[in-house]
Amino acid sequence: MTQQLRQYQTQALTELRQGIRSGAKAQLLMAPTGSGKTTIASAINLGACAKGKKAFFIVDSLELVDQAARRFLEDGMWVGVIQGDHIMTDYSAPVQVATIQTLKRRWNKMPDSVRPDLLIIDEAHVLHQAHEDIIRWCKESGVPVIGLSATPFRKGLGKIFDRLVVTITTSDLMNAGFLCPARCYAPNIPDLKGVKTNSSGDWDADAVAEVMGDNGLMGDVVEQWLKLAEGRQTIVFASNVAHSRALCDRFRQVGIEAAHIDGYDSDKQGRTDTIDAFRRGQIKVLCNVAVLTKGFDAPETACVVLARPTKSLMLHIQMIGRGLRTAEGKSDCIIIDHAGNCLLNGLPDASLPQELHDGENSRNLDRKEREQKDPVEKPCGSCGFVSTKHVCPSCGFKPEARQDVEVVEGELYEITKDNAPKEKWSTEELASLYAELKGYARAKGYNPGWAFHKCREYAGRAPRNTNQIGPAAPSQQTLNIVKHLTIKAAKRRAAA
Ligand SMILES: [Zn+2]
Repeated sequence: MTQQLRQYQTQALTELRQGIRSGAKAQLLMAPTGSGKTTIASAINLGACAKGKKAFFIVDSLELVDQAARRFLEDGMWVGVIQGDHIMTDYSAPVQVATIQTLKRRWNKMPDSVRPDLLIIDEAHVLHQAHEDIIRWCKESGVPVIGLSATPFRKGLGKIFDRLVVTITTSDLMNAGFLCPARCYAPNIPDLKGVKTNSSGDWDADAVAEVMGDNGLMGDVVEQWLKLAEGRQTIVFASNVAHSRALCDRFRQVGIEAAHIDGYDSDKQGRTDTIDAFRRGQIKVLCNVAVLTKGFDAPETACVVLARPTKSLMLHIQMIGRGLRTAEGKSDCIIIDHAGNCLLNGLPDASLPQELHDGENSRNLDRKEREQKDPVEKPCGSCGFVSTKHVCPSCGFKPEARQDVEVVEGELYEITKDNAPKEKWSTEELASLYAELKGYARAKGYNPGWAFHKCREYAGRAPRNTNQIGPAAPSQQTLNIVKHLTIKAAKRRAAA
C-alpha cells in the first residue's frame, strides 16, 4: 500500500516530469535527510510501471539493495535485483534494484530489451566511472536519469546533471515537524593552523586526530556531554580509529555505557550487534569515525558530538543529519561541536548551495561567499550556544558592543608595531593575550565571553583551554590592542 505523498514530494514529481518534458536529460533531486527519499523513488517507479516502462534503481552498497527492494515490494511492485547471485534476480521484472558494482560487470552484455527506460541513482553525489558510462548511454538513448542526494555539492556534478531540483530544505522540514530542531554548542574551537590537507581537500585525518586527541580536549568532550546531554542517545564522530577508541574509553571511565565501531572491522556481526544495542538504549554513546554517516538510521539519537573537524559540507551535513530524525519522546537534538564545524559549514538549518557545481570553479562550495548573504554563526561567549543572533537565544548573554562606543573619543588611533596582530602566535603568547583581556573584562565588569571574542578577533583564534587561564593585569600593549579593536568596531558600525 503506497503511502500518501507529502505536498513537497508531489511537487518534486511534478517538477521532475516537467524537466523531462522540457528536455533535461539528467536531473538531480535534492532530498535532505527526513524528506522521504525512498518514498519519492517509489512513486517515480510506480509512475514508470503504470506506463509500462522499466525502471532501474542504482545503489552503491549491499545494505541498501535489500532496504530498497523490500520497500518497493511493500509498495506493490514486481521487483528484480541485480547483485551477485541475489535470490531476487529476475530480469523480467519492471523495477530493478542494482548495485553499481554488479551492474558495471553486466551492463555491456545486457541487451537493450533488458536495459532501463528510466534510471534512478541513489546517493548521486558519489558517482563512479561506471555511473558516468551508464548515464552517458542513457543520455544518448533518450532515457531520463534522475539522481537523488541529500548533499549534491560535489565538484563537477553540474557537468553530469543538467538541472538541480529543490522542493524542500532541512529548515522547512524542521518547521513542518518532519525533523526535530537542533541546538548547537561550540564550547571550544580547535586550532588547526598548519594541519595538512589531503588530496580530497579535507584535513588529513591523522593530523587532525593528533590535535583532537589532546588530553584536555578529550576530557572536555566527556565533561561537556555530561553538562549538556547526559542521558541522551549519542553518536560521537572522531577523527580516526585510535581517537574514537580513546574517546570511548573516556566515557567508560566515568561509567557511561559506550562502544566504538569502525568500518575496518571484519566482524560485521559484532558491528550489527553493537548498533542494535545502541538502538535498544543499552549503549548510550556510540563512537565512530565515519561509518555511521551513510544508510545508518537510529531516530532515537538525540545528541551528536563532533570531534572530527571537516571542511566538507557533505560530511558535515551527513554527520549532523544522524540526530535530526524525530522519535517518540524526543523534542530536539543537541549538537556539541568540538571541531568548529558548525562555524565553518553552517548550522543544520543554514541555507545550502542551490546550484550544481560546474567543476570549473569553487564558487558554490565557497562558504565565504555564502557569508556575504547569510548571517554568520557564532558561539555565545558565555555558554557556547551557536547562533546567528547578537543576544544569545540560550542564555541571554549580550556581547558588549554599546560600551565600546562610549569609550571612543573620535580621534584616529595609529596602528603601530605594538598593536598590529602577529603573523603567528605561540601558545604562550596567545594565553598571555587572553589572560590580559580577561583581566580587562573583569575590571570593566564585562562578561568573560568578551575576552574570548576580542582574542579571536585580534589573533584570529582563542586559546583552547580558556577556562584554565586566569585573568591577568593588562599591559599597555594589551590596552592599546583593546583601543584599536574598539575603534575598528566603531568604524564598522559607522560604515554600516
Ligand atoms: Zn549563551
